[in-house]
Amino acid sequence: DTPDLYRPLTPETLGERLSGISAVADRIGADPSDWTVREVGDGNLNLVFIVEGPKGTIIVKQALPYVRLVGDSWPLPLYRALYENHALVRQAARDPGAVPEVYHFDEDQALIVMEFLSPHKILRRKLIDGEKVAGLGTFLGTFCARTAFRGSELSMKSVDKKADVSLFAGNVEIPAITEALVFTDPYFAAEMNHHTEGLDPVVADLRANAELKAKVQRFLMKFASNTETMVHGDLHSGSIMSTDSDSRVIDPEFVQYGPLGFDIGMLTANFLMAYFSQPAHRSAETLDDFQEWVLSVIAETFSSFEAEFTRLWNTERTGMLYPASLFEDQGQASDFACAGLLQEIRNEAMGYCGIEMHRRTLSLAHNADFEEIEDKQLKRRLETRNLLMGADLILSPESYGSTDALVKLARQFN
Ligand code: ADP
Ligand code: MG
Ligand code: MG
Ligand code: MG
Repeated sequence: DTPDLYRPLTPETLGERLSGISAVADRIGADPSDWTVREVGDGNLNLVFIVEGPKGTIIVKQALPYVRLVGDSWPLPLYRALYENHALVRQAARDPGAVPEVYHFDEDQALIVMEFLSPHKILRRKLIDGEKVAGLGTFLGTFCARTAFRGSELSMKSVDKKADVSLFAGNVEIPAITEALVFTDPYFAAEMNHHTEGLDPVVADLRANAELKAKVQRFLMKFASNTETMVHGDLHSGSIMSTDSDSRVIDPEFVQYGPLGFDIGMLTANFLMAYFSQPAHRSAETLDDFQEWVLSVIAETFSSFEAEFTRLWNTERTGMLYPASLFEDQGQASDFACAGLLQEIRNEAMGYCGIEMHRRTLSLAHNADFEEIEDKQLKRRLETRNLLMGADLILSPESYGSTDALVKLARQFN
């Protein structure tokens, strides 16, 4: 038996297999007979175990060689764990404390041992349950700004950034999932698609709209070929864990080099879907207040993103892009350049936002915000709002490049 041969863990074998790892023993205690192991993976792809010992608790995440949601008919390379580990390490450096700390990585076993977040809950759950999180927008906007800025050649040395682009370019299959499921499948009758009964006329309208499809493909081209920065790649409310006042970002296995506005755009879509789905989850007395809070998180995310990005622009612009020497003695030229770039990022984010809103109602992977709605009529009505707003964002992203315009549009559809 070759020790390095990949084998998926089970709650029964985990103790024996991880007991020799000092990073594990140090955190939770050395004797695996004292450990309690629970498999909690609720995602679409991987095994996730909570391992509790006398000294502490850890998370063990292991990739499976296929898509968990679909089964072994859809193989997926184990090396994605390598990229997830690389992403966690980079995010921790760029925004300290924002992601769980990695304690141990085993490439052969496609396995990451990391910090157990507790009492954090998946943010999507909290949004459905009507639980507010203090400081959420500030945390997320700051995370997006720091990872975007510090992962780009605004900040990085070109030699390092280019080496990193080349490293992450080895990951082909994971971006291919996004390219198909997010950008393409919603817009034709792809095999794995499904949508709520009664949505057919709205869906037919979207698919008949050649201008819309062309715009989406242009966004896809940018997503696939633009290497501005290292993006998380899957920044939705199921990739964020929060208490009532503390938040972290998890699950960056969809990491790639991509556009500066991708993560914040996808994130915004998930808040808008939380917003639109609220009438199914709240009583009349609390509905308005919670919906307004969700909109305020979107606003706070963008204002924090812009404030932090601008701060980094002024203090950490050490890369080859927009060198300070270029703008010397030209008054506010550098400020204008920063503001112009931020506006572009924002406009582009609105396109990615609209696309994410579409794929979550039409493609393979839907979200609990809508899926947990039992009243099919209501579900269809709320999903229709989401689809129509998404189309407006894709067709005219530059019209919604301010928080006021975006929030006004959301209110119109609600
Ligand atoms: P997948 O890649 O399969 O989506 P995730 O990394 O999203 O896996 O993890 C699946 C679930 O496991 C999360 O929704 C969360 O409930 C739990 N989980 C993952 N990482 C942690 C962590 N560091 N601390 C606590 N729970 C976690
Ligand atoms: Mg080895
Ligand atoms: Mg996940
Ligand atoms: Mg994942």
